[in-house]
Amino acid sequence: MSQYIDGHLKQFVPQAKSYIKDSSHFLQFIDQMAQQISIEHFFLVTADVVALYTNVPQLAAVTLVESYLSKLDITDRKSSMLKEMISMVINNNYFNFENSIYLQTQGVAMGATVAPTIACLYMTQFEELFVYTSLLFHQVICWKRFVDDVFFVWGGSIEDLHKFINDINLKDPNITFTYQYNQHQISFLDIMISKYNNQISTSLYKKPSDRNSLLQYGSFHPRALRNGIPVGQFLRLRRICSNDEDFNKQAMELYDKFKDRGYPGKVIRRAWKRAKNCHRPWLMLPSNRQQKEPDTVCVMPFTGSSNAIKHIILKYWPILQSHPSLSQRPKFAFSRGPNLGEKLKYKHSDTSIVQRSPHQPCGKCIVCNHVINAAHLIIPFSRGRKFYLNTDTSCDSKGVIYYIRCPCHKVYIGQTTRKIKTRIIEHMSSIRTKRITAPLVSHWLSEAHSLSDLQYTVLIHVKHFQGDLSRLLIQKEQRFIYNWRTLYPDGLNSEIEWLLV
Ligand SMILES: [Zn+2]
Ligand SMILES: [Zn+2]
Repeated sequence: MSQYIDGHLKQFVPQAKSYIKDSSHFLQFIDQMAQQISIEHFFLVTADVVALYTNVPQLAAVTLVESYLSKLDITDRKSSMLKEMISMVINNNYFNFENSIYLQTQGVAMGATVAPTIACLYMTQFEELFVYTSLLFHQVICWKRFVDDVFFVWGGSIEDLHKFINDINLKDPNITFTYQYNQHQISFLDIMISKYNNQISTSLYKKPSDRNSLLQYGSFHPRALRNGIPVGQFLRLRRICSNDEDFNKQAMELYDKFKDRGYPGKVIRRAWKRAKNCHRPWLMLPSNRQQKEPDTVCVMPFTGSSNAIKHIILKYWPILQSHPSLSQRPKFAFSRGPNLGEKLKYKHSDTSIVQRSPHQPCGKCIVCNHVINAAHLIIPFSRGRKFYLNTDTSCDSKGVIYYIRCPCHKVYIGQTTRKIKTRIIEHMSSIRTKRITAPLVSHWLSEAHSLSDLQYTVLIHVKHFQGDLSRLLIQKEQRFIYNWRTLYPDGLNSEIEWLLV
């Protein structure tokens, strides 16, 4: 919904007088300014708004968006739908933090697609109402803004600059600027702007916290992507550095950085040379990649076999081509496959320590080490549905339905009217003595699972029951066996137990 609204709103953002699209756009502006006016005695100032996203008032944001929507040439019905949507998006930002759900009551959600657009529009309105109308604004030589970061050149005295900022900071309780100024040098976005002898030059600005975060060359990414990174980085450097000597110095550093990350010297040198031979003003022009007829694109996740699949498709293309919808030779694109973190997380999601397990080891017996330390289990064959545990039991609890899991995540469900630890010890001794009484034991032996890998927890605890406890437990157990599909071979319960009841 947020994306849909953004699609209608973002066209208004570039209409702001102060609009800066990106670094290239800003460099272009600096170049032009350097040619047009002399700023020899002026101050370079950068200012940014403190926590803009969380400070945009929700009510004002809705009103603001509504006023922009009314400028659109759309039907009344669509307009009222969009208005309803925007207040839904802004006023219903629920988020989950440490297992509690919160509702954001201040500001716009950082993650929402429409948030940057709303922030920009709010700033545009602020500028029009309070900045351009300020009595001291005539001393501002130019005023440019990228979302909440402002760059401006100040033509007046320092006292007046302080006054000017204090003045606009008093206008709206939600907007507070912090600012820095310098007569010679200042950083804005990733650019360092310097002026000496009436000359403006730009160079790369590296944050003090900057570290070598370039992608490792050995990383599992398509080769074209890895080889493209140096090209992009050297071109960016060429664009930002207005001085050739400076470019060479920075390029040396960049070369070392890529070397550190395992890039072949040939690849880096090629990218460097290409950037060096580029005519700098061309690099600053907005990229005018023309929209071609959409190609046939074959998209697949990037895995070890992606290239093989690609070659098979190309090899048999003459045959595939005979299909009417496949006249064009396809382009190949890869989406990111699951990374190691995601794979590990998924595999262990049911054992991860989210909360304290409700079934707690007593700390004194031999089954204590076998308790699953988790607040929930993933129900087998349920596509990840969770079963939340809430038993408040320990090793000595009686009258329980229990759950045993092997290392390959097969499940055994059992019940006992005796102490749970007694029953678990019995299972373990059957395995140790290889007394094959159930698929649980035969599976453990045939898979050569270690006894220490047996894990268990309690699903249900029946307390204070007056009737036939055993019968009740068997009924509940059977229901779990059936619903969770734990009969052999899907699980480790035996057919016989099932038939006996
Ligand atoms: Zn214990
Ligand atoms: Zn197993």
